Amino acid sequence: MNTQNKKEKIAVYPGSFDPITLGHVDVLRDGAEMFDKVIIAIAHNPEKKGFLSVDERIQLIKDSITDLDNVEVDAFVGLTIDYAKEKGADFLLRGLRAVSDFEYELQLSQNNRTLCDDIKTVFLMTRPEYSFISSSVVKDILLNGGDISQFVPEPVSKYLKTKYSPKQ
Ligand code: ADP
Repeated sequence: MNTQNKKEKIAVYPGSFDPITLGHVDVLRDGAEMFDKVIIAIAHNPEKKGFLSVDERIQLIKDSITDLDNVEVDAFVGLTIDYAKEKGADFLLRGLRAVSDFEYELQLSQNNRTLCDDIKTVFLMTRPEYSFISSSVVKDILLNGGDISQFVPEPVSKYLKTKYSPKQ
């Protein structure tokens, strides 16, 4: 793919993905069309326990995007820009749902740009039907016995329903 004067366009899509939702996948699919490679990377803090372990999250992402061959799944600790540099990525990919995401995302992207001018943040809007989905809403519905199948990819819904089945 790479020619002598054309650099491979690599984007890192960082986030918690705890768990990955249909909104995340929607953004990822569009990103995979735009970039040569997208690395979806779980940004994790070893001192904070997530809802799912990093290994569970990685496996669920992989199971949800088996048809995307230019996407890698990974995890990192530390600054996103340091990770992006290590991976040779010039772009960060982030998703936007509504105006409510914008202020936080703007702050994050401006601070990242200040820390590293070479790395640009690209925002993609999710489809309207996914714009009200968040990982925390999925967790709430699941832990209160609701049906999460309309919010997450099928492998995620299957796994979580088994793990949090009321019979356990
Ligand atoms: P973080 O903890 O970094 O916000 P998340 O896993 O919650 O990580 O989200 C990762 C990225 O995906 C963020 O840019 C967030 O705005 C975006 N995102 C989350 N949910 C959706 C959704 N339903 N549609 C589009 N983008 C989303």
